Amino acid sequence: MFLVGLTGGISSGKSTVSSMLRELGCPIIDADVVARQVVEPNSRAYCRIVQHFGSEILLESGKIDRQKLGELIFSSEEKRKLLNSITHPEIHKAMLKEILFYFLRGYRYVVLDVPLLFETRRLTQFLNHTVVVYCDPATQMSRLMQRDVLNQEKAESRLAAQMPLNEKRGLAKHVIENSGSREDTHRQVLRLHTKLEDSMEFLLVRVIAMAVAAGLGGVLLYSAKILVA
Ligand code: ADP
Repeated sequence: MFLVGLTGGISSGKSTVSSMLRELGCPIIDADVVARQVVEPNSRAYCRIVQHFGSEILLESGKIDRQKLGELIFSSEEKRKLLNSITHPEIHKAMLKEILFYFLRGYRYVVLDVPLLFETRRLTQFLNHTVVVYCDPATQMSRLMQRDVLNQEKAESRLAAQMPLNEKRGLAKHVIENSGSREDTHRQVLRLHTKLEDSMEFLLVRVIAMAVAAGLGGVLLYSAKILVA
C-alpha cells in the first residue's frame, strides 16, 4: 500500500477533486471529518479539552463549540499549541486505524485529504505522492466570495492567513489545475487516477507484510512443535 496526500488552499477546489476521486472508487480519509470525530463528547480528546479550556467552550448540546474554541486559539499561540498537542495524536491514531482498515481490505493506496498538509508537514514523510489542487488567485477569490458569501475584504483576509497556493504548488508532486471548467478538472483527475491505479508502489509494503506474517507463522509453528514434543 502507498499513501497519497491531497491538499489545496481555501476554495481552490480540493473538495471538488476529492469527490471526483471518491466517485472513481478511491478510498479517501478526510482529515477534517476525523478531526471532528476525535472531539465527540466523552472521547479522550474531548475530556482533555474541557479539562483545560473549561465548560464555557461547550454548546448546549454538550458538543464542543468549534467556533468559540477557534477564537480562543486564534488569540493565543500557547493555547493553540495546547489544543494541537491534545488533538493531533488522536487524529493521527484515528487516521492510522483507517489506513490499516483499507490495507487489510486489500486496497493498493489511500488518499489522505488534508487541508494543512504542507503547513504542519507531519505527514509528508509518509506520503509517496502529494497532490495540490490549484487555481489562479482571481478565480480563487471569486469562488471563495461566492461560496462563503463574503465581501472582498473578508475574502482577502482569509486568503492572506493561508500559505500561498503558489508555494504549495511548488512543493507537490502532482498539480490539478482547477482554474478552468469542472470538465477540464475531471479529465486531469482521471489521468491522476490512472497513474495511481497503474503504480506498483503498493507491492513493497505488501511483500514486507507477507514476509512478516510468514515469519510469524514459522515462529508459531516451531513453538507449537516444541510444545507438542
Ligand atoms: P475547497 O474544498 O478547496 O475549499 P471547493 O471544492 O469547495 O474548494 O470549491 C470552492 C467553490 O468553487 C465551490 O463552490 C465549488 O462548487 C466551486 N468550484 C470548484 N471547482 C470549480 C470549477 N472547476 N468550476 C466552477 N466552480 C468550481
